[in-house]
Amino acid sequence: MVEGCAVARMVHYTNAEGECAAAVITKVWKKETGTVNLTVFRDSHTARGEMTEIKTSVEWSHLSKRGAWHWPERA
Ligand SMILES: [Zn+2]
Repeated sequence: MVEGCAVARMVHYTNAEGECAAAVITKVWKKETGTVNLTVFRDSHTARGEMTEIKTSVEWSHLSKRGAWHWPERA
């Protein structure tokens, strides 16, 4: 069970470069495993002007695993 896993929570998505990106949970598939859909925010827009990217069925991982999400580290 991933406690607190709910729509509209802000999380970190680890991108292909291994960096934390801001993301919001838009759908919870499985609270047991923390499988969710995310809208990931870019730090700049793409050539086509896109500011966000949708990632589906993203797994939770307490490690900063690429392609997974985790709760934001304490600032
Ligand atoms: Zn992070």
